[in-house]
Amino acid sequence: MLGEVSIAAFRAGLRGELIEPGDSSYDQARKVYNGMIDRRPRFIVRCADVADVMSAVKFAREEGLLVAIRGGGHNAGGLGVCDDGLVIDLSEMNYVHVDPRKKTVLVGGGALWRDVDHATHAFGLAVPSGIISTTGVAGLTLGGGLGYLTRRYGLTIDNLLGVEMVLADGKLVAANAKENADLFWAVRGGGGNFGVVTSFLFKARPVHTVYGGPMLWPMEDAAEMMRWYRSFIAKASEDIYGFFAFHTVPPWAPFPEHLHNRKMCGIVWCYTGALKKAEKVFKAIRDFKTPGLDLVGFIPHPALQSLFDRVYPSGMQWYWKADFVSALPDEAIAEHIKHFEKTPSLQSTMHLYPINGAARRVKKNATAWWHRDATWAEVIVGVDPDPANKEKVSKWAKEYWSSLHPYSAGGAYINFMMEEGADRIRATYGKNYERLEKIKKRRDPTNFFRVNQNIATK
Ligand SMILES: Cc1cc2nc3c(=O)[nH]c(=O)nc-3n(C[C@H](O)[C@H](O)[C@H](O)COP(=O)(O)OP(=O)(O)OC[C@H]3O[C@@H](n4cnc5c(N)ncnc54)[C@H](O)[C@@H]3O)c2cc1C
Repeated sequence: MLGEVSIAAFRAGLRGELIEPGDSSYDQARKVYNGMIDRRPRFIVRCADVADVMSAVKFAREEGLLVAIRGGGHNAGGLGVCDDGLVIDLSEMNYVHVDPRKKTVLVGGGALWRDVDHATHAFGLAVPSGIISTTGVAGLTLGGGLGYLTRRYGLTIDNLLGVEMVLADGKLVAANAKENADLFWAVRGGGGNFGVVTSFLFKARPVHTVYGGPMLWPMEDAAEMMRWYRSFIAKASEDIYGFFAFHTVPPWAPFPEHLHNRKMCGIVWCYTGALKKAEKVFKAIRDFKTPGLDLVGFIPHPALQSLFDRVYPSGMQWYWKADFVSALPDEAIAEHIKHFEKTPSLQSTMHLYPINGAARRVKKNATAWWHRDATWAEVIVGVDPDPANKEKVSKWAKEYWSSLHPYSAGGAYINFMMEEGADRIRATYGKNYERLEKIKKRRDPTNFFRVNQNIATK
């Protein structure tokens, strides 16, 4: 039984807010990005600083509470919130300090990527992240981080210099190449299994204005474009990034009216090479097949990052299915097209994110992130604003995924997975799993941090 005295003592020792059921902010505070998730924690603690995180861990341990850690709250399966237990919510710890001389960025454990993009852009810098600005820095980084700068500068974790984190015993430690190197290895891909990361130190890259945006073609051209893309991206120079996508054109500006609500295939580009060469580089692409819609041009990096924010506001119903993929044979292409033609909603989509280039040059065992020799991380998401369509979009995503799964390379990117069980997690980490297990056993022997893609020890 939780004692009123210990709750009162915990509350009194905090600088941040303790939210409980019945409080006016409770329902808003328990919401996460995926509207399909409806969990009711016993406490939500909005930590103001590291001291709050340390006392939250201590309180949960003493009271035997389940703990969820919330960074940006974007996780597919809603792993930033739990039923009954304590949510350690870091959203107030969202500071970003750029050191333009050292080209490093110190980021609080609850920041969003848009916070980082805003602060770094002023100095002509960027940290490799994803393809949307509203995701949390913490969850995305701890899971690996795939996005516009992956081919040029590697995964987000390949740009991570160190973290500070609160472990299951409540102590704060630094983890980097010199200190607690086991933890530094494990947090680069191992998710929230090892502790609450209170800050990240990143290497920033010289990225300011890029040449990018979406190019879309009609579905009649989808097979030809997918075939062209699979060989193009395998050989493209590392300053050219493009993820393949199926999308329905939104019925609003800047999209031309004649394309509104049309299903199309496309590539979303981000070129970070010399800008004066950009038009020439892309002429070859455009000459292959003139796009039905071409929104590619010079664009500030933060603007490219936030291009999809309006299509995907918080609170929609999301059902995620994912796989790593090494090859895209013609039969798989045919299945993709067949299933996307049946897409049930405007926002439902399929993306293939390339993993080659700089990300592939890092050894498979250099960090916990194993699948560096896969060519793409595939994600199929059924999305709809209306909870009444939850089953419909989930069924579509499951069927689509099942017919493509035979072409998968094994495992899936943990940040695109919902709750799929231990075997999938094992497959995802490949030969790195055993080492993760050992570190988990040493650093978190009671599996205190288990609301995540869990490295459960025997
Ligand atoms: C619209 C959308 C677009 C996306 N695009 C991309 C993309 O381009 N590239 C990409 O790589 N991923 C992408 N993702 C996936 C994203 O990386 C994951 O959803 C990720 O988990 C989000 O991190 P978060 O901090 O917002 O999540 P949360 O829900 O807050 O947390 C996710 C997990 O991380 C753990 N965690 C969170 N904060 C901490 C912390 N401070 N310390 C320790 N553990 C912590 C939690 O315990 C939980 O298990 C996208 C997701 C969405 C919804």
